[in-house]
Order: sequence, then C-alpha cells, then structure tokens
Amino acid sequence: MNLAAAWRRIAFVILIASATIARAENALTVQQIAPGNYAHRGHDDVATPANGGDIANVGFIVGTRCVAVIDTGGTLAEGRALRTAIRAVTPLPVCYVINTHMHPDHIFGNAAFKDDHPQFVGSVRLAQAEAARADNYMRALNRELGAAAKGSEIIPPTRTIDGIGTLDLGGRTLTLRTWKTAHTNNDLTVYDEKSATLWTGDLLFVGCIPVVDGSVVGWLDDIARIRQMNPRHVVPGHGPLDPPWPQSLDAEARYLADLARDVRAAIKKGETIQQAVDSIGVDDGQKWLLFDIYHRRNVTAAYAELEWEQ
Ligand SMILES: [Zn+2]
Repeated sequence: MNLAAAWRRIAFVILIASATIARAENALTVQQIAPGNYAHRGHDDVATPANGGDIANVGFIVGTRCVAVIDTGGTLAEGRALRTAIRAVTPLPVCYVINTHMHPDHIFGNAAFKDDHPQFVGSVRLAQAEAARADNYMRALNRELGAAAKGSEIIPPTRTIDGIGTLDLGGRTLTLRTWKTAHTNNDLTVYDEKSATLWTGDLLFVGCIPVVDGSVVGWLDDIARIRQMNPRHVVPGHGPLDPPWPQSLDAEARYLADLARDVRAAIKKGETIQQAVDSIGVDDGQKWLLFDIYHRRNVTAAYAELEWEQ
C-alpha cells in the first residue's frame, strides 16, 4: 500500500470511529409533561451495567432566556445524553443545573454541563453531605458500573438554597424549596409556577419503594406540606411521570406511617433491631418494586431513629 492509500485508509477508520462516538451519545428519551417541562423516565431498578445507572427521573425546564436542568443522572454518559436531548429541543444556554439531593443516580451526570458554565444549585446542606460520602460513592459507582462510570464526578453546588429561593429562566420562575430531613437531609423540590409542575426529587417515589436515608418522621411532616402544594403536574424521583395526585403521595405516606407505627411498637415490646427487621412489613412486598432490596434497610433506619424517642 502506498502512502496516499495508507492515509485514505486511516481517514476512513477515523470517520467510522467518530460515527460510533456520535451514536454512543444518543439523546436521552424525554417527554414534555407540561409546557416547557421535559422529563426522562429512569429504569425501575438499582444501577447495573445494563441500565448504565439510568435509574432516576431527570429532566429540564426551558424559559425564554435559558434552561434549568433538574438532576443529571447516574453517570457522565447519562448527563451527556441529557444534554443532547436538551439541544434537540432548544439552543438556549443551560444556566442552572439543580440537584434535588446527594444520591449518586441524581448527581453523577453534572460534569456533562461543566462547559456550559451554569450555576450548580442545591440545598445548603448538599455540599457537606456529598463530601462526607464522596469516596464511598465513587467506589460504589465504579464497582457497580465499571467502564460506564468513566468520567463521572461529584460537582458540589455553587449556589445554595436554604428555605425558599427563586430562579428566573426568562418568562418562567422556578421556586426551589428545602425541607425537613426526610429522604435525606438535603432534599430540594422545584416548582414551575407557570405550569404548576412540581419536581419532587426523591421526596416522592411512585411504584418503587421509598428509601429512608434521612428521617421517617421528618418525611411524614414534609408530605403533609407537599400535599398542600396541590400541583397540576408532578415529576417524582422514581416511577411513572405525572402520576395520579394525591393518590401517589398517599401510597407513599401510608408505607412510611406503617413503618413508623410498627417500628415504634417493636421498640415498645423490647424487640431487638434484628427481630424488628425480621417481622415488620414482610408481607407488604407485593405493592412495591425493589422491596426486597430496601425494605429491611428502611426498618433498620427507622429503628435507629425512633429508638431514642420518648
Ligand atoms: Zn435518592
């Protein structure tokens, strides 16, 4: 093969390689659940190489000036696919990347938006919660996803919310709100005033079992307030988009209230944590996806929380 032919061959190989990369960055599937509000439905599962960590609902809201991203998914690759989905909808810049809380399936795509130079927005308690868990989260991500975890990193908030704050996207105001410790100690909701759409983060699980990594008592208090918000559309952290309201919230509240009631009863009877884990809610599995993975953990968390109650 002469030199010219060799170069042509190399050029051809590069062309095929870049076409492959372009395909690898397919856009995440999103659905417009309310005007200007686009949500992606994550898999109802734990993170696996097969789902690439795409297990949380994520999305974005478009104003006349710019775009706010709400959670970025479980990996850099998912964040990039979300960014591609945004570009298919609007050329407007991404000015805010909001994280609803610290969990890996909601934050590890943040790095995909670095070059957009957005403000990264989260609860005033988010950065510390992430820093405390950073090593464990990175290790777990690499163990669970292997090569698919590549390039994922934790990017803490550059703008924090404590109580209530607003973001202006141009012709569209988002009200952000932090809550009493519930799913975690850094939960944040996003409410689009214009379409009355509430993005709950993991304060609402639909179909998938709620996971307590904060406080079952605090979560029940938060639910009572969230119910009063009476949104027209809802994006839960996990499960079907725009679920029936308030029935979806009621189902979650019932699970958490039963959990608290049964754990308190076990403590009162003098049961050990292991006895409580073995007896509480064991026949409840039919109702919730991922019950076998998280229910026992919830009993353990609730026991540790309620043990010291008067
Ligand atoms: Zn979560």
